[in-house]
Amino acid sequence: MKFYSVNPFNGEQVGEYQALSVNELDQKLNKSADAFKEWSQKPLSYRTGLIKKAGQVLRDNLEEYAQMITSEMGKPISESRAEVNKCAWVCDYYAENAESFLAEEKVKTDASKSFVRHDPIGAVFAVMPWNFPFWQVFRFAAPTLTAGNTGLLKHAPNVFGCAEKIEEVFTKAGYPEGVFQNLIVHHEQTEKIIAHDAVKAVTLTGSEMAGSAVAQLAGKYIKKSLLELGGNNSFIVLEDADIGQAVKTAVSARMLNCGQSCIAAKRFILLESIHDEFVEKFTEAVKNLKAGDTKDNATQVGPLARKDLADQLNRQIKDTISQGATLLVGGEQDNCFHEPTILGNVKPGMTAFDEETFGPLAAIIKVKNVEEAFELSERSKFGLGVSVFTKDTTKSLEYASRVTDGAFFVNELVKSDPRLPFGGNKRSGYGRELAKDGMMEFVNKKVVYVK
Ligand code: NAP
Repeated sequence: MKFYSVNPFNGEQVGEYQALSVNELDQKLNKSADAFKEWSQKPLSYRTGLIKKAGQVLRDNLEEYAQMITSEMGKPISESRAEVNKCAWVCDYYAENAESFLAEEKVKTDASKSFVRHDPIGAVFAVMPWNFPFWQVFRFAAPTLTAGNTGLLKHAPNVFGCAEKIEEVFTKAGYPEGVFQNLIVHHEQTEKIIAHDAVKAVTLTGSEMAGSAVAQLAGKYIKKSLLELGGNNSFIVLEDADIGQAVKTAVSARMLNCGQSCIAAKRFILLESIHDEFVEKFTEAVKNLKAGDTKDNATQVGPLARKDLADQLNRQIKDTISQGATLLVGGEQDNCFHEPTILGNVKPGMTAFDEETFGPLAAIIKVKNVEEAFELSERSKFGLGVSVFTKDTTKSLEYASRVTDGAFFVNELVKSDPRLPFGGNKRSGYGRELAKDGMMEFVNKKVVYVK
């Protein structure tokens, strides 16, 4: 079986990838188990030295990796470069902090000595999406490998070229063979991989459907799972907000990566007193976004990663308009391309309110007061993050407890940062990546007790 990756900007084939045979997959799984035996016993300083080098390899080859990202999934080249740089940052972060995160935790008991160790568990299997094809993998791999685990990657088939480059990063950095392996497989192989003795846990970033399928298998084989799934983040603008700043941030929050981000702001909940001013300025700013060649530095909007994604977005737009929303700008699709679009007068029960929209579409929702704003924000099956815009930052902190999402950002778009835990609640998944929490997900918290 063969997989092909295709540049959504021009339809040209980027790569052709041969699926692993059953034997080849078995060999890789066994190799992961063998590599773990030595890798897990290496001094931590050896592993932090290698993750530091991985960061350097990313920086040394930034242009090559950024070009691969842009070719395979169509994001503008400036965003691909930023993505590779962010991966280098997460490598540096764990190189610098792993020692304190993994340190033994002394606990006073009736023992002469008792403490908790943080030992690696084995191979961690990662099922990853195409939207940030380098970042999603590095944010799992940097803490997980540095803790002494081995890693196995099943990437999305439209970015298998990126998956090969990621494996290359670890090889170039000097990682022992088998510590990080890319698996060119169909997702039907997931059960075989999760069932294998070498694999102790699975992490998936992707849709609810994929998350549910993988979590069921993890349950069946009693392996730990972590899920980073979809989102329908709200972006609340209060009466006293700096509208200029809110609009500028709104454009990035929705249109970065051509809107293909789980933590993108999707529902713009506006207090009625500032609604018209915000909408006018937001519409103007979205109209001025520069579409064009994805390899041009100045391009801000590219195609969606695949035609079916553009089709799906266009269907959601048409449905929402037929349900009573107003088209304020955009709305047209051409193959993989979709115009940045804003819909006004969106309400609960309409498609663009209820469903995750994975593309350049902003839904505008007008509310009477702060209570209604937070009530509508909560009316979502997802729970990744909320942004609130207000000049009263002291009061804004009181709103944090009303939100059940995994993140609450004031006067800023919801974004990931290696220093802060990242993850969602409700149908957005469970578990946390990044920061100390991300490293603690895949360790054996082993109690040592000396009488
Ligand atoms: P997707 O279709 O779920 O694919 C994600 C990964 O899961 C791919 O590698 C895919 O492989 C695999 N997969 C799909 N069905 C599977 C199954 N039954 N068993 C095992 N693996 C399976 O998601 P997507 O369309 O690529 O990505 C968009 C979704 O990801 C959105 O909902 C977005 O919000 C979410 N996302 C979440 C985060 C987060 O951090 N919370 C970050 C980014 C994206 P195949 O393609 O081979 O099926």
